[in-house]
Amino acid sequence: MKEERKGMLIVISGPSGTGKGTICERMLREDPTLVFSVSATTRAPREGEKDGVHYFFMAEEQYDELLSADAFLEHATVHGHRYGTLKSQVQKQMDGGLNVVLDIDPQGARQVMAQMPGCVSVFILPPSYAELEKRLHTRNTDDSKEINRRLGNAKGEIDQMHLYQYAVVNDDLETACAQVRAIIRAEKQRTTRYFPVVE
Ligand code: 5GP
Repeated sequence: MKEERKGMLIVISGPSGTGKGTICERMLREDPTLVFSVSATTRAPREGEKDGVHYFFMAEEQYDELLSADAFLEHATVHGHRYGTLKSQVQKQMDGGLNVVLDIDPQGARQVMAQMPGCVSVFILPPSYAELEKRLHTRNTDDSKEINRRLGNAKGEIDQMHLYQYAVVNDDLETACAQVRAIIRAEKQRTTRYFPVVE
């Protein structure tokens, strides 16, 4: 059986602290048809993060240059830092039949959904606000003022869940991953992207 596949764009978004990054990592590790879109950011690298792998870390001026050159598919300021998806990371890989995964915040996700109506959009939810607050505290990266700000943002973001095609509650990581896996599996078989040739 000969077949041809067009690559898809998979947007994984949701409030801060819902575990979307971990879910993306798992999907990318186990499915060789998926590639991660490395974003540009003005935030400093954390310990263990590599330039060009986790992000393209850059100064404000370099980011401004990319903005002026219209290099971003979407961009947003998230928790005081700027982040953007590079068009160059997305289109080439999709044209090559690969499925590109974006781990981006809801402001960026809305921009991508508006511009790329064929994308697959998945919203990751926490099981409760109490659990989200607990996770934000456990992560230990923010003070309580910042945690309250993120919780406040989460409420507004969850109100906009209907803009996404799929919703997944990350209560148990294995279950959430199985659900995202099933979404990707089914989306790969859409006749808009999958062209089997019957000989
Ligand atoms: P972190 O700095 O912890 O890696 O990411 C902070 C937030 O920025 C996360 O919600 C992550 O999904 C989001 N983010 C990462 N890259 C991008 C991007 O290119 N665009 C947008 N809009 N958000 C991003």
